[in-house]
Amino acid sequence: METFALSLDRVVRDAPGWYQGDFHCHTHHSDGTLSAAELARLARTEGMDFLAITDHNTLDAYAHFGAPDGLCVIPGLEITFDRGHYNVFGIVQDAGWLRPVRQGPTQLNWAKQGLDLNDLLAASAADGLLNSINHPLLPPWAWLFDDSHLAHIHCLEIWNDPSWPDNRVGNPLALALWTGWLNAGYRITAIGGSDFHRPVNQPGVRKPPDRLGLPRTFVYAEQLSGAAILQGLRRRQVYVSMGAQVTFQAYHAGQVYPIGAEVGMMDGDLELEAEVTPAGRGGVARLIGNGVILAEQTLPWAESPGAAYALHHSARLAPDAPVWFRLEVLDGNGLLSAVTNPIFAGPRPAPVMTRYGDFVDVAQPALRAR
Ligand SMILES: [Zn+2]
Ligand SMILES: [Zn+2]
Repeated sequence: METFALSLDRVVRDAPGWYQGDFHCHTHHSDGTLSAAELARLARTEGMDFLAITDHNTLDAYAHFGAPDGLCVIPGLEITFDRGHYNVFGIVQDAGWLRPVRQGPTQLNWAKQGLDLNDLLAASAADGLLNSINHPLLPPWAWLFDDSHLAHIHCLEIWNDPSWPDNRVGNPLALALWTGWLNAGYRITAIGGSDFHRPVNQPGVRKPPDRLGLPRTFVYAEQLSGAAILQGLRRRQVYVSMGAQVTFQAYHAGQVYPIGAEVGMMDGDLELEAEVTPAGRGGVARLIGNGVILAEQTLPWAESPGAAYALHHSARLAPDAPVWFRLEVLDGNGLLSAVTNPIFAGPRPAPVMTRYGDFVDVAQPALRAR
C-alpha cells in the first residue's frame, strides 16, 4: 500500500481553539501557478493556520510541502470530471477507487470512464474520508450528477472567492441549495474555498487575481492537525467569513451547545446567543431558524473598530419538530459576510428527497448548461 507524503497526525499546535484556513486551492502540479512552497508561504503571510491542497486529479504536490512552519497542510484532491468537481479530504494512502482518477488527465471525461459516481463517493466515505461538492452552481462548472446520493456527501462548498464575477452568481445559489438540504433534514457541513489558482494574471487576461483564503473557513479543533480539523468538519463546528468574527451558541437546561451541535429532542426554550464583530462599515446580522429570519441586528455605519454587536432569540422547542438555527451576517452592500453552520434541535429527520437532482431548481438550466 503506497503511503503519501502528507500526514493527518502532524501536530502544528497542541491547543484547542478556532483555526482558520482555506479548503480549496491549486499548485502548478495541476492548473495553478505557484509551487507548494510558494503556496504555503502565501498562506502564512495571509495569517492562515491550515490549507487543504486540492489539485485536479493529482497528488503530486504532496511530496513538495515538507512541514511548513506554523501551517497545517491537509491532504486533499479535487476529483474533476467534465460533469462536476468534488473535493476529497484526508487522503494519506492509496486505494483502488483512486486509481482511475490519478491515472487520468486533469479533467476526466465522464462518458469514457465507465465509473459509477455513487460507488466512488461511497468508497472514499468507507475509507474514512470526507466528500465535499465544489462550486455546485457556478457556471460553467456546476454539478450535473443529479443521481448522486446526498447520504455520501459530508460537506458542501457554499462560497468561493467573490472577486471572481461568476462566483457572485454561484455563491447565493449554493447557499440556497444548502438551506434546502437543511430543511429536508440533512446535516451536511457548509464550508468555503477560494479555489485559488494564481496570484496574478497574465497581462491582457480579463480576470481579476485570485485571493487565497477568501472566503476563510473557521473550524474549532482540539488541536491544529489535519485529523483534528477534519474532525471539526464532521462536528460542523465551522463558520465561513470574509473577515467578520462571530460567536454563536445555544443554552438549554444549563447546557451550552456550540455551532454544529445537536440539542436533541427537548422541549422548553432554547436561548440563542450570538455576537458579531464586523469587518467593515454597516450591514446586518440575522438569526435564522429553518430558513426564516428570527432576529435582526443592524450593524452601524459609524466607525468603531472592534465593536461587537449582540443578538438574542428565545426559541420554543417541540420535541417532535426538527429545527435548525444559524447566524448570517451581510455587509453594507448586502453581500454575505459570514455564515455559521447550524445548531440543530428535535429528531434527526429521515429525508424523503435523497438525490442531488431532487433539489436543483429546474428553472436555472442556463447555469448548468455545458
Ligand atoms: Zn473545481
Ligand atoms: Zn478547484
